[in-house]
Amino acid sequence: MTYLESLRINQLDKQKKIEDLLEINKAQTVGHGYIDAITDFKYIEALISGLSQIGVAIDCVTWWCHCSEDNKDLFGCPHGLGGPQSIYFDGWFSEIGIDNESFDLPNDAYQKLEQGKVSLEEIKTINETAQAYIKHFTEGEKFSPCFKPAVWLHVPVEWRRDIETEGYAPSV
Ligand SMILES: [Zn+2]
Repeated sequence: MTYLESLRINQLDKQKKIEDLLEINKAQTVGHGYIDAITDFKYIEALISGLSQIGVAIDCVTWWCHCSEDNKDLFGCPHGLGGPQSIYFDGWFSEIGIDNESFDLPNDAYQKLEQGKVSLEEIKTINETAQAYIKHFTEGEKFSPCFKPAVWLHVPVEWRRDIETEGYAPSV
């Protein structure tokens, strides 16, 4: 069975486990699917290792500026475009476009997730690569302490979350 087939066959169970992980780790998705699950650094490692345990791979990492009152004073936020109100934290998230500064799986690994069989061990390796990228980026000069990482989950495209996300804040 391929990676995506095994997710589809266990959809209810898998989605429940994903939803639990997102909630425990205060991760908020942008839109109705499972892309751009934004959370704080405090929770990102637990979120990623939890995803590895339930066999869900991360195919992308993006960055969002956390535009809270404190961060506005400290770091001059927002650093990007509009974005959603934060559900778990104060303020809102501003979408950052940092050229070439996001993590995408290499094409062959991505295609394998789309069409092939993928072992739990391989998923863990993929997710550890995403985790290592996040750590590496936070040590670089393009990083600002207001930035929060967001992970994209590689799940069937038709999967939707039940909850509604908040509206976008006005673009600045
Ligand atoms: Zn900022």
